[in-house]
Amino acid sequence: MPSDNIALKPKDYKSDIKPIWCPGCGHYSVLNAITKAMSALQLEKRNVAIISGIGCSSRLPAYTDMYGFHGVHGRALPVATGLAVARPELTVIAVGGDGDGFSIGGNHFLHACRRNVNFVYIAMDNEVYGMTKGQASPTSPPDWDHSKLAPHGTQIKPFQPAAIALASGASFIARAYSGKPNAMAKMISEAIEFPGFAFIQALSHCITFCPEQSQWKDIVRPFDEEATSDSVVAAQRIHGDDGFSAGVIYKNPRPCWPVEQLDKTARSHIPDAVNALGEEFRL
Ligand code: SF4
Ligand code: MG
Repeated sequence: MPSDNIALKPKDYKSDIKPIWCPGCGHYSVLNAITKAMSALQLEKRNVAIISGIGCSSRLPAYTDMYGFHGVHGRALPVATGLAVARPELTVIAVGGDGDGFSIGGNHFLHACRRNVNFVYIAMDNEVYGMTKGQASPTSPPDWDHSKLAPHGTQIKPFQPAAIALASGASFIARAYSGKPNAMAKMISEAIEFPGFAFIQALSHCITFCPEQSQWKDIVRPFDEEATSDSVVAAQRIHGDDGFSAGVIYKNPRPCWPVEQLDKTARSHIPDAVNALGEEFRL
């Protein structure tokens, strides 16, 4: 709870900077869902860090009144990993888009799932590179032909974030939709409270370059079942779905990357290691 015992409202977690997202962009709802989750949990602003890469969605840290880091393309997860390991008392949230996170950042995504360091990753998926004016991304449908660079579509099978997260060892996997910000806020709260790496694929429409995504409001529906802790059931659920069912899909806590051990052993060796390096390079 905040030290002054005054409850923080969602707007208290926002900065004075007005977002420059296009009117109607889904990312406004994701920002609202994040600040609602902060308020629901009454997190102290000084104990939260929002880390991003590059892209329309990666502008989000600037629109919050918490610590933030607007990094380089595809590299939000290594920064978030380092911060969460070094400062385990913080709530660390990485945000970004599908281009940033699943293309250049794809490698980091696999290993963040595998490592299970305790932070939340919200990937705002609009199936397009929005900031660079509408090129096909890893999650674009194969026949999406709006881009001059792929006038016949990419004809490439889209990247499957939830399936790949499960196969890579993620222990919390969810899918949210920007058209349902309250449900997304609840999911973000659950992800923050989850002990370990928590991945949320947030379907967040790009109204400018993919206006057809406005139809998502008629397509997205909740998963029929509650989250499962059985990875086989989760795999069946993910592969049996068209990618438009929302909810927490899989939740199965396992030990986080050993921060505690790092505290007790590796950290105590850091001065020795630094000294040894210094000796090695002494002229
Ligand atoms: Fe949002 Fe698309 Fe505009 Fe970027 S280009 S701000 S993703 S609507
Ligand atoms: Mg995108």
